[in-house]
Amino acid sequence: MGSDAPQIVCRFSTRCKFVSLGEAPEFVGGTLDALRQPLEEGEVRISRAEGTACFPARFTLVLAANPCPCAAAKQVDCSCAPALRRRYLARISGPLLDRIDLKLELSPASRAELRYDLEFAEASRLVAERVLLARERTLKRLGDTPWRSNSEIPGPELRRRFTPPPEAMRAADDALQLGTLSARGLDRVLRVAWTIADLSGRDEPGTDDIGGALALWSGRRP
Ligand SMILES: [Zn+2]
Repeated sequence: MGSDAPQIVCRFSTRCKFVSLGEAPEFVGGTLDALRQPLEEGEVRISRAEGTACFPARFTLVLAANPCPCAAAKQVDCSCAPALRRRYLARISGPLLDRIDLKLELSPASRAELRYDLEFAEASRLVAERVLLARERTLKRLGDTPWRSNSEIPGPELRRRFTPPPEAMRAADDALQLGTLSARGLDRVLRVAWTIADLSGRDEPGTDDIGGALALWSGRRP
């Protein structure tokens, strides 16, 4: 990826709402943070003197960023000072990152890895079947609640009615204690942990599911 102007791709339909923002740190101050409220509440509220209008805005947000402004293909070719790299990524604010469930650092793929991937990557059809099964498990658990997916469960209800066993929660409790996990981040981790458990066919998240969700939220490799 080159470090040019920000790129926006939107795919909206009645079933799938997907927004992808490339070169995220290049967006001018405040633009990305305007997404915080709709990300949290699933709707956009516009208040004027005559009243407030609410518009549905539940969507999946994908942000992509180079690690530094020069966007060198190989790390050895990067001449950016460490402080510059930190400042560049810090343009994506902490409160916005708090609301991003999955953070992944991607390395450039070698030709050998690309060949390996083509050989062993799962067919989309198989992945779709697994997702469908997980969705069914979620729907069964949510029963007659107003929610249809783990992401829709409000934080207080999530903590009150869908708390994993205490022993599974130990890593998350420790992270909260250390201050490396925020209260909002905990809700995000819980929702992802339930999704991992649903994908694995387990009745509730275990230690590994919480640990995996925590690693994905914090962006460190598990
Ligand atoms: Zn660089």
